[in-house]
Amino acid sequence: MASTGHIMPADAAAIRDVARKSARQRAIPHPVDWNGRRVTVMGLGRHGGGAAVARYLAQRGAEITVSDAADRETLSDSLELLSDVPIAEIKLGGHDPHDFTRAEFVVVNPAVRFHHPLLQLARAAGATLTSEIEVFLRACPAEIIGVTGSNGKSTTCSMIADILSAAGRRTWLGGNIGRSLLGNLSEIHAQDRVVLELSSFQLAHLSHDAPLPRFAVVTNCTPNHLDWHGEFSHYLQAKQRLVREAPADAVAVLNAADAEVRGWRALAAGNVRAGWASARVPALRVPGEHNRQNAACAAAVTEAAGVDEATICSALADFQGLEHRLQWVGELAGRRFYNDSKSTTPAATLAALTALAGPVWLLAGGHAKGASFDELARTIVGRTRGASLFGASRETIQACIRAQRADFDVNSSEQLADALAWCWTRSQPGDSILLSPACASYDQFRDFEARGQTFCRLVEAL
Ligand code: ADP
Repeated sequence: MASTGHIMPADAAAIRDVARKSARQRAIPHPVDWNGRRVTVMGLGRHGGGAAVARYLAQRGAEITVSDAADRETLSDSLELLSDVPIAEIKLGGHDPHDFTRAEFVVVNPAVRFHHPLLQLARAAGATLTSEIEVFLRACPAEIIGVTGSNGKSTTCSMIADILSAAGRRTWLGGNIGRSLLGNLSEIHAQDRVVLELSSFQLAHLSHDAPLPRFAVVTNCTPNHLDWHGEFSHYLQAKQRLVREAPADAVAVLNAADAEVRGWRALAAGNVRAGWASARVPALRVPGEHNRQNAACAAAVTEAAGVDEATICSALADFQGLEHRLQWVGELAGRRFYNDSKSTTPAATLAALTALAGPVWLLAGGHAKGASFDELARTIVGRTRGASLFGASRETIQACIRAQRADFDVNSSEQLADALAWCWTRSQPGDSILLSPACASYDQFRDFEARGQTFCRLVEAL
């Protein structure tokens, strides 16, 4: 995630002044001729998207300033990706407001908060705000299937990509799943298909006339990222853009099994479909009702895109699942270990606890994103043998569990290693030990992958 919090001194007041005169954002011409445009890339980040867009625009003649609050060492991998393209200026360790008042375009990293004062400054000074994903949406020649939701985005995207590939389409999978497709644009043909995972941050930062995909899927919507959005309504609106602002001939698949999302039918600009009825979804290798819902959505959207039922069913039946999503790690002394590190919300952990059979010991904790732990605590008390909590929010989750049952077997350790050791010594043969944190990882780990890998290594070391 890009580090963007720090503003260089002496400017907060100036920023507020200009921001007060807030101007309406100008629409981006479509397609954009980037040659000679002054562009500030806010937030280079470490996940490749910032570097990909800076590269893409520099190669098309834009005059790029890269601005990031993090230092050179933290950003070394991303900077390396820019070493062979002309970047006018690289400013690290803070942001200079000047780069936001003189820019024609500001390319915003999804991690930057929507109401960041420098974005308000840029808007007020007449800059057009855009993003890596919007640059891609404007330039992509192929049909796009966009997928959003609070949980299940990556899994559903991967299922869709597998189905389209099985149907003989050249398929590109990217977006929030961790890969920018900007560098592939020259290879993407009109008859290919693109599956794009879209986070609420990416949707919130799209400008008002961004071209949205003709095929859309929303898996579910529960409170998430409230630390970024401020309010649930802002998060909801960001997610709803995918269906509300779609073209008139669009198809939106709204998961009928999700109480929130099925109520969005009236918002959709184009046609609406529910996911397939569960009876039509074949037996899957990946466990849980939640994965059947993901499959039902993937089936409905690929069917709408012209794939036949037999191809859909065989690709879904073969789907192997993704790492860090209820991933089977192994069995040791009769205990089964599961890595669900990608669970960063209480709803995802609820899905994991519902999907596993038999006695479970749960490892949870990390950076909480503002969603309530009350329902999860009720399920933990009813469903698990014990819970071992770690990381920044361990005390908060422990308090919620104790409020449900004061004598419930719960442990709190700062480190994941100690939390795991507690589960290991208390568990019996036949039990499952599940890492499903319900929280983001970045209080202690680089990302959810690093957290899951650490867990797998710790299990091996047992
Ligand atoms: P996302 O990309 O939205 O984060 P993933 O497919 O990577 O979703 O899964 C993230 C976490 O959510 C995992 O822990 C996974 O087991 C769980 N999960 C996947 N699909 C669903 C769903 N439909 N409902 C609830 N939880 C889900």
